[in-house]
Amino acid sequence: MHLALPRMLILAAALATATLACAQAPAAAPAPYATTKVADNVYVFRAGGHQSMFVVTPEGVIATDPIGYVNPQAPAVYLQEIRKITQAPIKYVIYSHHHYDHAAGGKPFKDAGAVFVAHRNAHKRLVALQAPDVVVPDMIVDDSGSSIVLGGMRVDLLYAGNNHSDNSLVMLLPKERIIFTVDWIPIQAVLFRDMADGYIPDWFAGLDRVLAMEWDRMIPGHPGPGGRLGTKDDVRMLKDYMTDVSNAAKQLAAERKCLNDEAMRAVKLPKYEGWGAYSMFLFGNVERFCEYWGRGI
Ligand SMILES: [Zn+2]
Repeated sequence: MHLALPRMLILAAALATATLACAQAPAAAPAPYATTKVADNVYVFRAGGHQSMFVVTPEGVIATDPIGYVNPQAPAVYLQEIRKITQAPIKYVIYSHHHYDHAAGGKPFKDAGAVFVAHRNAHKRLVALQAPDVVVPDMIVDDSGSSIVLGGMRVDLLYAGNNHSDNSLVMLLPKERIIFTVDWIPIQAVLFRDMADGYIPDWFAGLDRVLAMEWDRMIPGHPGPGGRLGTKDDVRMLKDYMTDVSNAAKQLAAERKCLNDEAMRAVKLPKYEGWGAYSMFLFGNVERFCEYWGRGI
C-alpha cells in the first residue's frame, strides 16, 4: 500500500503539468469575441485572434477591417457590437490592407450603406483577384494619404510605403494619439511565416516613418501579449529583431548557405525566444531575408 502514495504523487505531478499545458493553450486561441473601449469613442472589436478598430460619432461610425475570413460570423457580430453602442449610420469601412483574413466579410457593412476605403494598391489587387467575399473599395487613398473627419472625430489615413503588403495604411487618431495598423508591426511576436507579400528593405523605412508620427498607443491587428496595445518601444524592438534576422541572413548569404535549409534552421536568436511564434516562424523569417541578401529578391 505504501508504494501507492509516491505513485499517486507522481500522477498528481504529471496531472498538474498537463493542466498547466492546457491552461496555456487557450492563450493562443482566445474566446471568440470581445469589444473593448480604448479611448472616448474609440473601440477594439476582437474575433478570435483578429482585431479591428471602430470609431463612434454622433454623425456616424468609422469601422475598419471586417475580419470575416477565419470566422465568417465575425462581421455580423461586429455590427451587433457597434449597435449596442450607437444607432448612428455606418459611414465608412477602412481596410488596413487587402489580405483576406482582415478584409473579407464586409457585406453586412456594405448593406448598411458604408463606403469602403483602401489604399490605391489594395483596390487594384482586389479588382484583379475578385475574391467573392471581399467588398471592392469605393474610395481610394493615394500615397500622399487622406483624412476622414466625421462628427468631431478625425482619422488620418497614412501610407508608410511597402512593408507586409504594398497597401498597408496607418490609421492615426491625432487627438487620441492612437494608431491602428495591421500585420507589419506585431507586438513581441516574430513575423508571419516567410513574410509573403513582404518588401525588404522598404519595411525598415516604414518603421522609421511610423516612429516619426505623433502617437502613444498602437492597436494591432492581432492581440499583443495579454491583449495589450503597442508602444513606440515595440516598434523599436521589432526593428532590432528584423535587423538581427537580416544580419544573420546576410552572413549566411556571404557563406553561400542561403539555399541550405539546415543552415537557415540553425539560426537562433535567443533574445527573442519569448516572442510569439518564435519557434514556428523564425525559420521563415530567416529564409525571407536570405532571399533578399542571397538572391536580391
Ligand atoms: Zn496581412
